[in-house]
Amino acid sequence: MSQTSQSYDDSNIFAKIIQGDIPCHKVYEDDMTVAFMDIMPQAKGHVLIVPKQQAVDLSQLEPEYASAVLMTAQKVMQAQRQVLSREGIVQMQLNGSEAGQTVFHYHVHLIPSSIHELGRHGSSQADQEELATLAAQFKEAIDTAR
Ligand code: AMP
Repeated sequence: MSQTSQSYDDSNIFAKIIQGDIPCHKVYEDDMTVAFMDIMPQAKGHVLIVPKQQAVDLSQLEPEYASAVLMTAQKVMQAQRQVLSREGIVQMQLNGSEAGQTVFHYHVHLIPSSIHELGRHGSSQADQEELATLAAQFKEAIDTAR
């Protein structure tokens, strides 16, 4: 099967974040994307990049949104490197529950880590103050680079 058979559920948690119905620690936003701190990070500084298109996974992502996601990812990655003084950033994206996808709105993970260190999904919520501080530092780094 080349396409997901799953239809988009607009009550998913990232749809609610995009609509501003639930809070997040936002790092960056433009017309086509939003980037925010992962609430259960797999490493310090774990950020999610989410397109403002209703796509379950990669098979449904429109090319202009794919491009916008990568442009935002470049900004965020640069900020992560600068703020955390760490070069290694893993870009990860899961398609389908079999692959481990848990939120069915397409998103890219940017995880300051290494393939050798990464394990399963994070299992505990991060400290909210730490997430807020990191989000502010990343945001400032992005604004300064503009
Ligand atoms: P995936 O398994 O690729 O679908 O990743 C979903 C990610 O979303 C996981 O890393 C979760 O920790 C993260 N997540 C779930 N709910 C929230 C939320 N409300 N705010 C931020 N990140 C979230």
